[in-house]
Amino acid sequence: VKKNVIMDAEAMRRAIVRISHEIIERNKGVDNVVIVGIRTRGVPIAERLAAAIKDIENVELPVGMLDITLYRDDLSTLAYNPIVHGTEIALDLNGKTVILVDDVLYTGRTIRAALDAVMDMGRPKAIQLAVLIDRGHRELPIRADFAGKNVPTSHKEAINVYLAEEDGIDEVAIGDI
Ligand code: 5GP
Ligand code: MG
Repeated sequence: VKKNVIMDAEAMRRAIVRISHEIIERNKGVDNVVIVGIRTRGVPIAERLAAAIKDIENVELPVGMLDITLYRDDLSTLAYNPIVHGTEIALDLNGKTVILVDDVLYTGRTIRAALDAVMDMGRPKAIQLAVLIDRGHRELPIRADFAGKNVPTSHKEAINVYLAEEDGIDEVAIGDI
C-alpha cells in the first residue's frame, strides 16, 4: 500500500511551535487562556501546544479534554451527529479564552458540539479553534483560527494522523477510507 505522507515529525513539530506563537500573538500573551483537546488525538496535540507555550512564555496553561463521539458508520456517510460524552475540564471557564484543539477539521459538526459543551460550562470570553489538519468540506459556518496544514481532500480520502503518544510515531498521511 502506497503511503502518501504529508507531514513528517519535523514538520509536525514546527507546526506546533508556529501555532503556539500564533496563539500568543493573537491573544497578546496567554492571560486567561485555557486549552481544551478533543479526544482522542486532539488531547496530545493540546498538551504539545501547552508545552510549547510554556517554553516560549514560561506559563503553564491548564489543559482540559472533551470526549465527543461521531455517530455514523464511516467517513463516507454525511450528516452524522456528534455527541458529547464527557468533559474533563476542572476549570471555571467564565471570562476565559478557550482554545479548542482537534487533529482534523472536516464538516465542522464535532466543533459545533464542542462549542455547545463549552458554552454550557460557563461564559468564556472567546473560543478559538486550533487544528493540525484542515481537510475542507465544511457543512457549517466554522473555521479554524490556527491550522497546521490545509489539505484539500476528496470525501473518499481520509487523513491518517499518527501521534507518538497514541501510535508511536509522528506522521500525517492521506489514505483511502
Ligand atoms: P467533523 O466533525 O469536522 O466532520 O470531523 C472532525 C472529527 O472527525 C475530528 O474529531 C476528527 O478526529 C475526525 N475526522 C474527520 N475526518 C477525519 C480524517 O480524515 N482523519 C482523521 N484522522 N480524523 C477525521
Ligand atoms: Mg476526533
